[in-house]
Amino acid sequence: MHEMSLAEGVLQILETESAKQGFSQVKTIWLEIGALAGVEVSALEFAFDVVRRGTLAGNAQLVIIHLPAQAWCLSCGQIVEIRQRYDACPICGGYQLQVSSGDEMRIKELEVE
Ligand SMILES: [Zn+2]
Repeated sequence: MHEMSLAEGVLQILETESAKQGFSQVKTIWLEIGALAGVEVSALEFAFDVVRRGTLAGNAQLVIIHLPAQAWCLSCGQIVEIRQRYDACPICGGYQLQVSSGDEMRIKELEVE
């Protein structure tokens, strides 16, 4: 389950930031996940619940923000939103899409104390 290593990665970022910024508790984490990131959100939430125990994020709330994926359609020249990597263009039905965003996962904001 790669969500476990993603959750550990998030926790590592939190620990690095806490050392840099000098906070000791994380209250809320806003995590952006692109539609193409290949992350199973429920698995990630479960994994995060496991890895955060006894850490600075032990009581933190995890807020997931879903980002749509965008692609550039070579056939009709439009920027379109897609839900999966090999979707057809919703405007012209073409398959020559160049994905421009949507495969990222990052911490958008932290509420700390
Ligand atoms: Zn198109």
